[in-house]
Amino acid sequence: MPSGITRRLFFQQSFLAGAGALLWQRLNPFASGGSASRRARQAGTPIIITSKTNETGQKAMELGWEILSAGGSALDAVEKATNYIEQDPEDTSVGYGGLPNERGVVQLDASIMDGKTYSAGSVASLENIMYPSSVARLVMERTDHVMLVGPGALEFAKSWGFEEENLLTEKARERWLMWREAHSDRDDWGPPDHLKGREEQGASLDEQLAYTYGTVNVLAVDAAGDVAGITSTSGLSYKIPGRIGDSPIIGAGLYVDNDVGAAGATGRGEDVIKSCAGYYIVMRMKEGRTPQQACEDALHMIAGRYRAVGLDFLPGEKFVAISKDGEYGCCTTTGSRQPRMSVMNEAGLNIYSGSIAFQTE
Ligand code: ASP
Repeated sequence: MPSGITRRLFFQQSFLAGAGALLWQRLNPFASGGSASRRARQAGTPIIITSKTNETGQKAMELGWEILSAGGSALDAVEKATNYIEQDPEDTSVGYGGLPNERGVVQLDASIMDGKTYSAGSVASLENIMYPSSVARLVMERTDHVMLVGPGALEFAKSWGFEEENLLTEKARERWLMWREAHSDRDDWGPPDHLKGREEQGASLDEQLAYTYGTVNVLAVDAAGDVAGITSTSGLSYKIPGRIGDSPIIGAGLYVDNDVGAAGATGRGEDVIKSCAGYYIVMRMKEGRTPQQACEDALHMIAGRYRAVGLDFLPGEKFVAISKDGEYGCCTTTGSRQPRMSVMNEAGLNIYSGSIAFQTE
């Protein structure tokens, strides 16, 4: 803040300048600061991608593309697309309908980054608010902070008019109850000991009780060449209350560099945090690697860290990335199925299959 003016005055001036500039730019798209040649140099290849490939993910891409193709900002596009996914009750890893923590409470994490202004915002352990990515955007745009957590994040969201809602759907509650009853045979949950017979619960029980990964990454470049991204999640299912994953951590679950592109992560957040994977991927792209190669590099880097301390451990991760010039890629650690992502650009909607970093089968 420049010295000699109060914080309030500075805030008012920045706000007015920001809002005025925005209005001016909307009315006169070619009149702002730079010349036409500067605009041409900065122009990007509009694209929006998401780690979700289901119907909701595809529809979200269409919503984001509507904004991008009309000349709107990458930031607005990623927010609109993410909100659509956050409100889907069928998605048990994001927003409404997300699987709860071990006490049955849905706690959401989300981050947003705007390459154009080198700004970031995030919320973590946010309860009862369906659109955590929009709250993260307000943290980014309307505070001098980057991250708000728990009750502070909730209070902040309510101050902006977000209404508290019960995010635990019946489907998620039933899954949580099943987990609580079956995850241990040494506690008091479930039927009385003399009636406990696990077998009647079906062969797929292990699958149903497995920890669930999911999360959504949405990344975009707009026609002006600006890059933005969001990562939003209900986090690791049945997590310890208060556990925060990689999704709201800038440089881990999300990173954006307006000169390069953007990257997002899903999967075991603990590894993404330790490796600063989002940042690493974008820095690899800056060094000339394609988004696909950079995602692969990050997974090899993480496995290498474990190998260096004598551990043969391959964490379950999926990375997605885009470059400013419209390239994209995704990679997962292991498994039998190629990772996929939804991509929307001038060519239309495409489901892209990426690579598996370690073929173990
Ligand atoms: N990365 C998320 C987390 O660790 C989980 C996920 O992607 O499913 O919270």
